[in-house]
Amino acid sequence: MTKQEIIDAFRLKDFTPVYREADRIRKTVKGDDVFVRAIIEFSNYCTRQCKYCGINCNNHHVKRYRMPLDEIVDTAKQAILAGYRTIVLQSGEDPYFNGDNGRRLGELVSAVASLPTGFEPGPDGAPPPLDITVSAGELSYEALAHLKECGATRYLLRHETSDPDLYRFLHPCGTLEERIACLRNIKKLGFDTGSGFMVGLPGQTIESLADDVILLGTLECDMAGIGPFIASPDTPLASYPNGQTEMTKRAVALCRIHRPSLNLPVTTALGVLDPHEREDAFSCGANVIMKKVTPTRYKESYQIYPSQIEETRIASDRRQLDRLIRSLGRRPI
Ligand code: SAM
Repeated sequence: MTKQEIIDAFRLKDFTPVYREADRIRKTVKGDDVFVRAIIEFSNYCTRQCKYCGINCNNHHVKRYRMPLDEIVDTAKQAILAGYRTIVLQSGEDPYFNGDNGRRLGELVSAVASLPTGFEPGPDGAPPPLDITVSAGELSYEALAHLKECGATRYLLRHETSDPDLYRFLHPCGTLEERIACLRNIKKLGFDTGSGFMVGLPGQTIESLADDVILLGTLECDMAGIGPFIASPDTPLASYPNGQTEMTKRAVALCRIHRPSLNLPVTTALGVLDPHEREDAFSCGANVIMKKVTPTRYKESYQIYPSQIEETRIASDRRQLDRLIRSLGRRPI
């Protein structure tokens, strides 16, 4: 799609035909499989000052934590037993893990990568691999290369917004150029590369949202997380309105049409604004869902935006999610 076509589509009064087209493309390219990923939020220490984020380093109301290595690995073990084939290791930009060219992050990835999976062999006779996704902020080329060697297969780093001025306003600690350079390194190193953006940021325009969609193609992304901006208390953007769920779903659908091969999650943020929207997003082009498996006691401290804290019950949560996915006529993987 051209930028103008994307802008015109965002502005449509009746978006139904576009949703239908996105769902048709999703079915043709991705089939009915829904990939279910387990997220472990292993540290909320962060050196960044992102104005929208509840765990930015200026928020002194947040109780900071780092999960001990053993506990992270044990959580991953439980997730594998519950049926997850992808573990997402997410954190703030924590120098303890990221420093020294990602040494401790590498240790963590290696420990998770060496867990026995017990996965059933696939049609080719070999068991499917355990995918390890890392989402720990911007890292040097050397640190990323080290993580790859340790066994990480995917890296998630949203570009957040493609508007350089808005990016600068939101991120006192970095530039869009640096973010994009890091994403290019991630791609160059052979990771499955995930970017994405927020919808409804203060001052964001439809034109810049169209650029967000296009940038995912330019960066040859394999995944994209797209969620509404949600105002978080004790941040500089606390008094701004939340992004709209309708615009977020439109963005997901347009990404599916613009770059059909993308893995597109229905993001947690969408479900925070309206739980039904999350299910609905599966008919707008999405084919992935992420489930938090972070132990309950840490969840309150990983509130990037306000959301209801649910007790983590890894195995039964997974069964419930599988039932939901099947009830939508799709197949959980
Ligand atoms: N530190 C890593 C990074 O920067 O990529 C990963 C953690 S960061 C908290 C994960 C994502 O949360 C960000 O990429 C951002 O898009 C999203 N996020 C943070 N605050 C948000 C908010 N108030 N509303 C919606 N999404 C938010």
